[in-house]
Amino acid sequence: MPSTRHPYQPRRVPEPDAQHPLVFDLVHGSTEDGPGLRTVVFLKGCPLRCAWCHNPESQRPEAQVFVTPGPGSMQIFEPIGEAMSSERVAAEIARDLPFYQASGGGVTFSGGEPMMYMPFMHAIGEQIRAQGIHVAVDTSGYFDYAEYVQLLQGTVDLFLYDLKIMDDDRHRAATGVGNARILENLVQLKQSGVDIQVRVPLIPEYTATEENLSAIASFVRENDLSKVSLLPYNPSGNDKWLKMGAHPPVLMPARPMDLSEYERWGAFFNSCF
Ligand code: SF4
Repeated sequence: MPSTRHPYQPRRVPEPDAQHPLVFDLVHGSTEDGPGLRTVVFLKGCPLRCAWCHNPESQRPEAQVFVTPGPGSMQIFEPIGEAMSSERVAAEIARDLPFYQASGGGVTFSGGEPMMYMPFMHAIGEQIRAQGIHVAVDTSGYFDYAEYVQLLQGTVDLFLYDLKIMDDDRHRAATGVGNARILENLVQLKQSGVDIQVRVPLIPEYTATEENLSAIASFVRENDLSKVSLLPYNPSGNDKWLKMGAHPPVLMPARPMDLSEYERWGAFFNSCF
């Protein structure tokens, strides 16, 4: 008699904490997450809940699963989040050393919010520092600055720093947190002298408004943040929510931002300087 047992056997994944996060992706050879060729380590967990999040599987720190329809009545289960030791991640990073040296690349910690896991990044830094590997951190800016000073200052070469919404109430409504800490951390990082690339995701009706982009331009100018890039809206979140068995909190536009719209916002932003 055929078994009626559910075919998916969940793996036992330990509960994550600041020293033992789950990795939900690890990409070699990326050209989009900082200079040169990069290994990108995606850590699972984020204190924000952006309405437009295109990686909703990165928000909760614990293991989850994507479920997609397979052939016939079958379903395909794809686990999200793997426990990896700092030694294993450091070895994955070190593997690409010749590519970093040839291209001016390195490692980028992303997420989610990798700054939730400073002890873990510190442990990896201890293992790769001797090889002179460039370290970038892709952050929402919502982190404990004192902990950064204690554990990571001097070992991070570059921050890819998201600026989203300048109005505090709107920021809170769209992301679940206010922006005071994010702006304060950015000013402190700038004053510390670390390299910063500000990134502004262009989200229709949220961040991509004339009022918001003008306010971001003023902040950037006042704080002498010379490197800023605008990122076009990328709609992959809706489908991922459904694959996790949940409805998207907000149904975002299904089409990506087209080039002409992106260029219009770029021209507007430049005109604010
Ligand atoms: S900060 Fe990034 S990962 Fe976190 S909820 Fe927002 S878009 Fe998603």
